[in-house]
Amino acid sequence: MNELLANYIAGRWQHGTGAGIALIDPVLGNELVRADSAGLNLDEGFRFAREQGAAALRALTYAERAAMLSACVAVLNKHRDRYYEIATANSGTTKADSAIDIDGGIYTLGYYAKLGESLGARRFMRDGDAARLGKDPLFQSQHVMVPTRGVALFINAFNFPSWGLWEKAAPALLSGVPVIVKPATATAWLTQQMVKDVVDAGILPPGAISIVCGSSAGLLDALTPFDVFSFTGSADTAHTLRNHPAIALRSTRANIEADSINSALLLSSDDAALDLFAKEVAREMTVKSGQKCTAIRRAFVPAELYDRAAQAISARLAKTTVGNPRNEQVRMGALVNRAQLVNVRDGLAQLAAHTQVLHDGANTPFIDADPAIACCIGPTLLGATSPEHADAADIIHNTEVFGPVATLIPYRTVEHAYSLIRKGQGSLVASVYGSDHAAIAQAAIELADSHGRVHAISPDVAAIHTGHGNVMPHSLHGGPGRAGGGEELGGARALSFYHRRSAIQASTAALDQL
Ligand code: NAP
Repeated sequence: MNELLANYIAGRWQHGTGAGIALIDPVLGNELVRADSAGLNLDEGFRFAREQGAAALRALTYAERAAMLSACVAVLNKHRDRYYEIATANSGTTKADSAIDIDGGIYTLGYYAKLGESLGARRFMRDGDAARLGKDPLFQSQHVMVPTRGVALFINAFNFPSWGLWEKAAPALLSGVPVIVKPATATAWLTQQMVKDVVDAGILPPGAISIVCGSSAGLLDALTPFDVFSFTGSADTAHTLRNHPAIALRSTRANIEADSINSALLLSSDDAALDLFAKEVAREMTVKSGQKCTAIRRAFVPAELYDRAAQAISARLAKTTVGNPRNEQVRMGALVNRAQLVNVRDGLAQLAAHTQVLHDGANTPFIDADPAIACCIGPTLLGATSPEHADAADIIHNTEVFGPVATLIPYRTVEHAYSLIRKGQGSLVASVYGSDHAAIAQAAIELADSHGRVHAISPDVAAIHTGHGNVMPHSLHGGPGRAGGGEELGGARALSFYHRRSAIQASTAALDQL
């Protein structure tokens, strides 16, 4: 039997007592390692993190914690080659796609290390300015933010085993809050290896980081009111977890990042804007085989540009080579496992009744991959010429096919486009393409209430923009409504989730001592 991944909890490496769940190479079909969390004493692990890890982290200043994050960056960079090997084998991703996860995660950690330096030798933060409570300026109110005295539990999705860990762990650790991560089982290996390297390097105090691989059973039961919980995954699982007593009754603070039917909107008919739009839609469909929470699922174009846009996107998709990511000719690797392949095929079947196929990925030949084994699938562009039909609206605007699939949708007026986009009921990101800066700005503000991020692109930033689906730590990640209502990243904003806010009402002289 293959290696059973060890869990790190209560300051020691521990194996589950069961046989474990196999992690599979989605291209070659062989078993890689196994994950198991059966029999772990979670209460002991949470207590250890709360008592030892949290106390040690809170004793440090932001600048000292930032220095630890920098040291973690150095360790992770040293082991990058190993992470790429694991990602290729376990996630079936090409080198470029693995980089988004691995280097994206390390970059985000480095970003928070720099941000922490700027917070200096403090252990709490002022939140805004003091406010007089009456005529006399001697008695005032000052809001402060102090680290919550608990643990941060992360339950993560399979598509970002590295970035998903570090984008949450960086602001938590910087805030002085220990981390317990449960990666999605399908790709837990990379997360486990990264945590192992950081633990082995002895940078973080005991209890600052823990990992549980395998089932989530019992994790939420261990949460108390001052812990925080951050979930990334499907809307269905999110729904179940929101109703857990820890969140519903004990008010443990929860951040939910769920699925999202993100949009791209073409505003103008000039070639430059159309080209930018088509390039980004095709890129978003194929990067990580479309397994990105931020990926464009619906692409909106003025009705008169529908055919041109369909051709431009399809031409790019036709050049996408699919197969074994170890072969350098391959641009798009596999889906993460057979269950996801089945899900994508089911999603396509659901959309089929309401759409036409503009570019068919079903017959894409695979390079170096056996179609009977490999979880590969070519990119498919669908078209929906009457998306307002009641059934079609439900399906197209509500079905997240978590793979290389998007639907092109024509609109009559820009107001019509906004109303169709809003049928997604809240998304992580919308991108807007045009050449008129005023029109772009207006669209961005129109879409801001229903999107955590609006990526507005004109030809002047063609060569430098960061990409629709690329989550930069400087900007908010999360979205209202269907996207889960969560907020992550966004620079220093991310720290507030791991702090408690309190208003100190005191004499000005006492407030000066803070
Ligand atoms: P998932 O099936 O919901 O699983 C997510 C995590 O929840 C996994 O760690 C899973 O563990 C765990 N889990 C499943 N059922 C649970 C339960 N009843 N109690 C506690 N934990 C439970 O999602 P996924 O298939 O891994 O990820 C794909 C989805 O995530 C997509 O819908 C995508 O849009 C979304 N996503 C969103 C974001 C974002 O930032 N908004 C980012 C990435 C992905 P096991 O793996 O052990 O089952």
